[in-house]
Amino acid sequence: MPAHGPGSPLVPPLVPSAVYTFPDLDALDAAYASTPPGFVYARDGHPNAAALTDQLNALHAARWGAVCASGMGAISAAVLPRVRGGDRIVASDKLYGKTNKLFRELERFGVRTEFVDVCDLPALTDCLNRERAAVVFVETISNPLCRVCDLPAVAEAAHRSGATVIVDNTFASPVLFRPLDHGADVVMESLTKIIGGHSDVTLGYLGGTDAEFGKTAVAAVSTFGVNANPFDCWLTLRSLETLDLRVDFAADNATEVADWLATRPEVSRVVFPGRPDHPDAAVAARLLPRGPGHMLCLELPGGRPAVNRFMRAAPGIPFAPSLGHTGTTCSHPYTTSHRYETGEAKAGQGITPGLVRLSVGCEPLARITAELERGLLATTG
Ligand code: PLP
Repeated sequence: MPAHGPGSPLVPPLVPSAVYTFPDLDALDAAYASTPPGFVYARDGHPNAAALTDQLNALHAARWGAVCASGMGAISAAVLPRVRGGDRIVASDKLYGKTNKLFRELERFGVRTEFVDVCDLPALTDCLNRERAAVVFVETISNPLCRVCDLPAVAEAAHRSGATVIVDNTFASPVLFRPLDHGADVVMESLTKIIGGHSDVTLGYLGGTDAEFGKTAVAAVSTFGVNANPFDCWLTLRSLETLDLRVDFAADNATEVADWLATRPEVSRVVFPGRPDHPDAAVAARLLPRGPGHMLCLELPGGRPAVNRFMRAAPGIPFAPSLGHTGTTCSHPYTTSHRYETGEAKAGQGITPGLVRLSVGCEPLARITAELERGLLATTG
């Protein structure tokens, strides 16, 4: 918590300036030479980004960190400086669709990605033993089917083969899980989701343990031009004040909603790592003692037409292809987050046309279940 001097504002000021002035060259040199460096040009750093980065670094116990323009920007700044032509990335086969796309794009630069089931440790170990990997990339809780990565085991196998372990912690947030405490070298998050929490910013964070690599990754944010804008940082600083409250409240609601959905005849499958029928229930109980979060999926046996009927009958749960909003929203991975994956890849992950992803929010529980009930009743009509 920053200290406040007499008469200083309680709320940090928003500093939109794109550039900073200096009386002469010596003052500019002094700004570059100081630790941390003074602000010169906003693409390289500004007070709102610095304040947000400091708080996120503290939440993750990171030795270095940076905020950037989006979650995808954070993935790019974390991964690209770690690879060169001829390298291999080993990635989970259950990632956000755009992350898959980024890895596939890297083929053009001679960087191959092998997608493996990181929940199958023997398969992952085989894959790592076969050939050196520069990076192992996983999601703590996967999008959308909430597979929970056994990170300590994955990190041990990855480190034995010399890989850097990069973890997308977007679904968990540092409230539920701190990957750097469990073997990750780098953590990244889309702050657009539950950390921003109000669907009004697009931002990302990356942080890690190795200060030398940190210099390269932080420089990449500026060189790639994926810097964060001051207003989004200012808003996200405000969001951090309620992060614990929102995460815990939404996670409690999600647990109740999952159990309620499991009793509904209109639903053929409920996917939530807090339920005993989830394949990673034991891993979730061990690694996420505060709960497995606010995300869950339900399957409507009537496929796409049933999903359309559900959405039209339940406008109080907006179809909004993102997650982590204060209120409950729904999405449809088949046509949104995984739209550009092949039908075969979607089927392999269990992403069907009838799958609805819920991002459970902080409304009173009865309001959520009442709206869900309206939607579900319409699916069979
Ligand atoms: N990682 C996960 C798990 C996501 O769900 C998303 C976006 O949906 C991203 C990364 C990318 O974040 P952004 O949209 O902020 O670029």
